[in-house]
Amino acid sequence: MSYRVIDPMTGAEYRSYPDATDAEVDQALATSAKYFEEQPTTRYERAQHLLKFAQIFDDEADKFAEEAAHNMGKLFKEGQGESHAAANITRYYANHGEAFLTPKPYVYGPNDAHAQLEYAPTGIIMSVEPWNFPYTQVIRVLAPNYLAGNPVILKHASSVAGCAALIQDAARKAGMPVGAFQNLCLTHDQVARVIADPRVQGLAVTGSEPVGRQLAGLAGQNLTKSTLELGGSDACLILDDADMDNAIKESAISRLRNSGQTCTSAKRFIVRREVADEFVAGLKRIFTAQVVGDPMDPKTTLAPLASKRGQEKLAQQVDNAVQHGATAIVAGGPTGEATGFMPTLLGDIAPDNPASQEEFFGPVAQLYVVDSDDEAVKIANATPFGLAGAVFSADEDRAHRVASRMATGQVFINKGSTGIPELPFGGVKNSGYGREMSDLGIMEFMNAKIVVYPK
Ligand code: NAP
Repeated sequence: MSYRVIDPMTGAEYRSYPDATDAEVDQALATSAKYFEEQPTTRYERAQHLLKFAQIFDDEADKFAEEAAHNMGKLFKEGQGESHAAANITRYYANHGEAFLTPKPYVYGPNDAHAQLEYAPTGIIMSVEPWNFPYTQVIRVLAPNYLAGNPVILKHASSVAGCAALIQDAARKAGMPVGAFQNLCLTHDQVARVIADPRVQGLAVTGSEPVGRQLAGLAGQNLTKSTLELGGSDACLILDDADMDNAIKESAISRLRNSGQTCTSAKRFIVRREVADEFVAGLKRIFTAQVVGDPMDPKTTLAPLASKRGQEKLAQQVDNAVQHGATAIVAGGPTGEATGFMPTLLGDIAPDNPASQEEFFGPVAQLYVVDSDDEAVKIANATPFGLAGAVFSADEDRAHRVASRMATGQVFINKGSTGIPELPFGGVKNSGYGREMSDLGIMEFMNAKIVVYPK
């Protein structure tokens, strides 16, 4: 294996990097361990580095966007947006990290004796990240842990190795010491070896369910704490009193952004019968108007999928769904040019259709028409996933009541779900465990240590 970046538009190799050698892995672990033991910088100094790091993502957004376009096909404009989003997450932890880690007083016993909860870093964090948001996924783990004093070793998806190299360059320019953050082209066996190293105290995985399962298993065997941000098949519930223009617009944006390759995309639209025709007509209008093409071309509205493999898998899932009785209400599919895929809307999906249980990682939506809010919630919860979801209704109390019954880590009301630095992000069930972003994100790999006074 070597890290080969294939440009989805041309199908040609864009960059390649050799795998790390075992000696390089050993050296990297030793450097990170030394950094951890010595803690050469204060939190204040690290916050200053993070602010510089953020500024680089803002100043050089075009460079980051172009690299993402050639690594995984992201629209140039979306790549610029992702670069600014990476800056925002970084700045958030630079500005708030210290406050989140402020020791917390406790009292105990009949005489209210004193104790204090302190947050100490624990050790090296192995971060395994996916290609779909090649900057923000890394920053969600790196920024809080850098501020907290945990060194991070990154194994990025091999297909976005060019993006990973840019992140490392930016970290160095911002003054982050080598031991604090290292990007390594690790083989899968080397990832297992790093997880098993006792100096590694945390594993953060974002990726697919099978990979999460496998890596969390390795972490478990080594008693290493893990967080898992895995796949989703998010439900978007459109109730009969929803503002339909908003519901249609937000639904389409949610399903199509990043060419549908987003963990928290709305993937299953569960719509009250009273408004189903209007919803389908609106979604169809937007789906069929998409212009698939070069991500660097401003006329393109829907970029190609990140890989030929992803395109083939998605087409296969659609075929399989139809063979099991689904109807293609909007029949999109592979465009014939590069890895393009026109949006598709599937209906008539019976509970025993495998499609009802799978994640479709691309611009394919599912429609379920329901006669009550109870039925909507039942279908929403009838998947192994539990990442995010959305509810559209003119009555926010009603929407909230429905949201409370959804088995997911996040529910958005009258807007599509997305990641926001101030808000916890993560899932339940097979979508994983643990939280990124917000105050919760910085706590995941801290030692919450209680220091107890005798009185
Ligand atoms: P993936 O195939 O699971 O890969 C994720 C990462 O794991 C990559 O770095 C990959 O590296 C690595 N990996 C794969 N097999 C491994 C092994 N045996 N040992 C060590 N590392 C291994 O997922 P993906 O296709 O990149 O990403 C798409 C998935 O991520 C979707 O399911 C999506 O929903 C999910 N996702 C979830 C979130 C969230 O926050 N919940 C966010 C974004 C994406 P290689 O490239 O070397 O295989």
